[in-house]
Amino acid sequence: MNCNKAIKEISGYLDGDLDEALKHTLEAHLTYCNHCHAVYDSTRKTIDLYCDGKLFSLPEDVHTRLHEALKRKMQEHA
Ligand SMILES: [Zn+2]
Repeated sequence: MNCNKAIKEISGYLDGDLDEALKHTLEAHLTYCNHCHAVYDSTRKTIDLYCDGKLFSLPEDVHTRLHEALKRKMQEHA
């Protein structure tokens, strides 16, 4: 798995949308890739912030903004 692919899967991972195999591949990537781990971490914190840890689904506009932010991060590092 490369970084672009990993970053694309992070929001699905946080939503619990990934199948087991993909989840393990992504987790493996996150353990050795500091860059993706940082993206994962800030995405997770953003979600916690919006949901206060209580809700499991994000409002559509929050989701969109999150994806936009991820896309920008990907471009910065491209
Ligand atoms: Zn990476």
